[in-house]
Amino acid sequence: MYNTLTKQKEEFRPLREGEVRMYVCGPTVYDYTHLGHARTYVAFDVIRRYLEHKGYMVLMVMNFTDIDDKIIRRANETGEDPKELAEKFLRYFLEDMTALKIKPADIYPRVTEHIEEIIDFVRKLEDRGYAYEGSDGVYFEVQKFGDYGKLSGIKVEELRQGARVEPGEGKKNPEDFALWKKAKPGEPKWPSPWGEGRPGWHIECSTMSTKYLGEQFDIHGGGNDLIFPHHENEIAQTEACTGKQWVRYWLHTGFLMVNGEKMSKSLGNFITIREMLKRYNPEVIRLFILQRHYRTPLDYTEEGIEHAKNNLERLYNTLENIRVAMSKAELPFRWEKEEFEAYNAIRDARKKFYDAMDDDFNTAEALKAVFEVSNAVNRYLTRVEKPAESILRKALEFFKAVSEVFGIFEDYFREQKAGGEEALIQFLIDVRARLRKERNFALADRIRAELREMGIQLEDTPEGTIWKRIRV
Ligand code: AMP
Ligand code: ZN
Repeated sequence: MYNTLTKQKEEFRPLREGEVRMYVCGPTVYDYTHLGHARTYVAFDVIRRYLEHKGYMVLMVMNFTDIDDKIIRRANETGEDPKELAEKFLRYFLEDMTALKIKPADIYPRVTEHIEEIIDFVRKLEDRGYAYEGSDGVYFEVQKFGDYGKLSGIKVEELRQGARVEPGEGKKNPEDFALWKKAKPGEPKWPSPWGEGRPGWHIECSTMSTKYLGEQFDIHGGGNDLIFPHHENEIAQTEACTGKQWVRYWLHTGFLMVNGEKMSKSLGNFITIREMLKRYNPEVIRLFILQRHYRTPLDYTEEGIEHAKNNLERLYNTLENIRVAMSKAELPFRWEKEEFEAYNAIRDARKKFYDAMDDDFNTAEALKAVFEVSNAVNRYLTRVEKPAESILRKALEFFKAVSEVFGIFEDYFREQKAGGEEALIQFLIDVRARLRKERNFALADRIRAELREMGIQLEDTPEGTIWKRIRV
């Protein structure tokens, strides 16, 4: 994976064998989530899914910035309570992530629930001589941390050029940043050794990531815009506090762009995930994002989305072709030229898929391999009368892996499993209840007996009829 810290691709070696601990900076919850966020969070979802697919146990943490200048400003504009405003958009965010089939983080820590830990962290920095109290808050003294700039390449002298401490700011040097902000009248506040106030932005991620993932962990990620100052400051705080090298691999996503500009709330050029989901299947949005490598900027265009939609349709068509073919497929006693060719094509494309994903999660290249398998199966099916079951299975197993990693084809594989069946069983239970009410016991008993034959046991309880699968 490409490590922003070393500016090169590195072989991934987690701290503990078999386990990956990762932290992805979450949103500041004061507005709806837009497609730019989706780009970053889908990218990290696929990175996480791929690591899991490779057999790692992944512990993933994503924070919520639920108190911040932007939240306070927005709450003042709308007349809402900042806490309620944050709560509302936090819920919307989670709904959007679920709709986009993004696997939930294992822990979603929120700033307002970790004030104690944050205060402790700031105190430690103060004890170690990296932090000082100014008139309006506590600051991190950047020049004290010798490694400052190692992630972004920025130098303290550059930060000083043309910068100055504004009147009213209580910091010593222009590059110093706030760890704790003293409350202004009417702002949300918590008691602290430095008087009432609230945490600065960067300190929350240092505190909450080390609390849940340890003083050293494997992966930390976010969008490109977080490299400086956010992640640079996170490193300074954490390494100043622990004296250890903190994160091993820093991963950053390229922007989702609109007409050459970053999609952002402040530019007003954004499309919310909600609006997108009214028009497109979530898997279309995922495919649109995965058509580009995660570090490359991605242009949002109607054509790009339509292209993704057509591609998804093509792949679903192939899956349907396989389903239909399965019903007439046979256990083969011989393979002919067609089988060998299809087998080899699937094998080669499969390898391409894994090679691409192993090369810094190159989903764009991996997707080409998915189409190669799709084409190979379709070609095979046009060439043979009776398809060999083994060939279809090889293709299906591959698509199942793609489904796990990319978070697409979910409906297809769910139907293949139980989803539809369960609804059908419930329907039969309802019909049986109706029949019994009408005293048609013969037919009602027949339903129960037939289901039992299929391995479904009905049990009548005071709360209604429940069902279980019987294995033997
Ligand atoms: P925010 O809530 O705006 O601070 O952003 C949360 C995450 O979304 C950060 O990791 C940002 O880098 C990322 N993000 C915001 N806008 C975009 C965009 N246009 N493209 C890619 N990522 C973005
Ligand atoms: Zn962060």
